[in-house]
Amino acid sequence: MPTSRRKFIKISALGLGGVAISTPAINIFGVNSNLDTPTLQKTSKTFKRTPTYCEVCFWKCAAWAYTDQNNSIKKIIGNDIDPHCNGRLCPRGTGGVGMYADNDRLKTPLIRVKV
Ligand code: SF4
Repeated sequence: MPTSRRKFIKISALGLGGVAISTPAINIFGVNSNLDTPTLQKTSKTFKRTPTYCEVCFWKCAAWAYTDQNNSIKKIIGNDIDPHCNGRLCPRGTGGVGMYADNDRLKTPLIRVKV
């Protein structure tokens, strides 16, 4: 049975739609609001969640920073109760962990001196 290009695209689109509908746990934006309660409780015991916001650009998206027992930031995700970002950060925002741990990050104000 020969299959035309149009039929192939229709079948593929139906298949992808079915997968998208049947797997609500998959969230392409990195926020999984479908985690079960035991998993959320275990995460909250292991990591401390602190509200924060991203300062990379003017949008100032609200976020949650997860830190371990050593107060080391392990993950930054969007704040799901912020109506502005709706629980999503762009890659620059989620990359905040790398910026925070960067050895070249300025930690004190620099004072210009004339030489
Ligand atoms: S997460 Fe992205 S869009 Fe939001 S403030 Fe940070 S850089 Fe800007």
